[in-house]
This record gives sequence, structure tokens and C-alpha cells, in this order.
Amino acid sequence: MSEATVALAPWIAVQRTSLLAQRGHAWLLQGPSGLGQYTLGMELVRAWLCDAPTAQGACGNCGSCHAIDVRTHADLCVLMPEVQMMALGWPLSEKAQADIDDKKRKPSREIRVEAMRDAVEFAQRTSARGRGKAVLVYPAEQMNHITANALLKTLEEPPGDVRFVLASEAAHQLLPTIRSRCLGHTMVWPAEADMLQWLAGQGVEPAAAAAHLRAAGGRPDDTLALARSGRSPQAWAALPQGIARGDVAALGDWAPAQAIDALQKLCHDLLAASMGAAPRYFAPGDLPKPPPLGALTRWSRALAKEARTADHPFNAGLMLEALVAQARNILHSRH
Ligand SMILES: [Zn+2]
Repeated sequence: MSEATVALAPWIAVQRTSLLAQRGHAWLLQGPSGLGQYTLGMELVRAWLCDAPTAQGACGNCGSCHAIDVRTHADLCVLMPEVQMMALGWPLSEKAQADIDDKKRKPSREIRVEAMRDAVEFAQRTSARGRGKAVLVYPAEQMNHITANALLKTLEEPPGDVRFVLASEAAHQLLPTIRSRCLGHTMVWPAEADMLQWLAGQGVEPAAAAAHLRAAGGRPDDTLALARSGRSPQAWAALPQGIARGDVAALGDWAPAQAIDALQKLCHDLLAASMGAAPRYFAPGDLPKPPPLGALTRWSRALAKEARTADHPFNAGLMLEALVAQARNILHSRH
């Protein structure tokens, strides 16, 4: 299981202790992606349901903690898009799993209304282990209006023993009525030295850690994912010049969505550079000369549009070639 192989970051532990010391039946964890919303949400839920919790969280050894580790806790309801449930090892409902197995539909990318109905029913039931119940919603911005309204009713009149964590990477997209029903917590952006120390503890070489941290825009979870993806920091540093040459190999074996993310970072840094600001994802010396602002703006809009359809390319190889050709044209554009 993914969490088991990653030591809890000290800044998450500090936030956990602080939130556990406060009362509240619904937390909204907010902030940009990659700061550990899901991890902190799980830590809260584990502590709430644990048989022997301390001020520092769950004990890790009791029946409740084990039930969460093996994804079978009767008093925990996890609401996520199905693609994320599957990626994080959470079981889907029997019906949902059967539909996907029979190819009746694809796993959902948003939180399904059916799953929310199950969650509302769950909230009404009696706690199985007698320590109350918990609902974790992540990413909460993946609720549509119907789903969010169904949750809202339960948040407004919570059946006594249920508590909620809504973890979000785009809290501004949530209904204001949902936000106002929760205690808000803004995720802490850890100090760079703390992140580098933590990454070293996860076996990431110090030189590589600094480079990956830059590529991930200073976000610790994304940095670790990048370090474990097998991409070398040298390949990242060489990416801008490779793209400028029109070399598709600069994108390695990335899926279209990852390639678009990398190109958006390059576009961001060139926009910054052309306005005299410091780049965020690449070292200044690795960037080509920025093209005119108008070209960059066109590119930025095109990439945003492509990001919305990147999950269903008709042909991934062709899409990468088209992306690189587009980028090369922009980078050599004179207007
Ligand atoms: Zn426990």
C-alpha cells in the first residue's frame, strides 16, 4: 500500500496534532495539490476511529487501524472518483466494480451520485465498532452540483456520530454553502530544508532531490512521485532545449497528460522569464530564449484546452508528436 512505504512527513504530523486538538465534525483541508491533503485526511480519520488514539494520532496497532490498512473498515466511507479509488487501492461498490469489469462504462473521474447516496445512507447507520464513523471526500472539488447538494444536507444535520474530512486541491470550486459548513484548514507549505531532509529519508539522492523539487514546483508529494518515476533530473533539465529542437524523445515515455503538464510548466517559466520574473520549474540556464508574449499566451490557451481531453487521445504517439511540433513552432515564433 502506498502510504506504508512513505514515512509520514513531519509537517503533516504537526498539522495532524494541531487539528486533533480542535473540535469540529467537518474539516475542509485546502491548498494547492501536492501538499498532502489526502495523507492528512487519512491521518485524521485513523485517529478518530482508533481504539487507543493519542494526541499524536492513531496507535497503528488496534483492530480499527488494521481494518483501515486493509481497506475494510465498516465505519469509514471513502468518497473519491473511481480512478483514484483504484489507484489508491480502495474497493469500489460491487455494482460499480461489476459495471467496470463488464465494460459497461469506464471508471469515473468525478465522485458519482450513486457513491454519494451510499455515503448518505452510511451516515445514518449505527457505528459498527462503536467509535463513531468517518467520511473522507477527496478531491472534494470532484463533486458535481447534485453530489455536493446531497452531501450538504448531511453536513447541515449530521447524524450524531459521523465526522467528515473534505480534502481539496481547488477549494474555490466548492459550493460556498459546503465551505461554510466546514472548519477550514490551509495546508502548510513546508520549508525547503525540511522537504530535502524528508526526501533523503525516502532514499532520494540529495542532488536529485533538489532538482526534482524544482521540477515539481516545490511540492513535496509531487517531488517524491517524480523521484520514484525513474525520470532523471538531467532529462528534466534537457527538456526545454529538446522541445525547442522539436525532439519528441525529450518527453520520454510519458503519457499525453504528463507531457502536457511538463509543457505547461515550460510555458509558465517562459512567461515568467519574458516578464523578468524567476522561473519556477526549470533552472534559468536550461530555458531557451522566450518567444514573444502573444505566442506564449496562445500556447498557454492551447495547452489548457488539450489538458481537458488528454485522457482520451485517439493515438498517444501522434498526440505527443503534435504537442512537440506545436511547441517548437511557438518557441521559434516571431510574433
Ligand atoms: Zn489504533
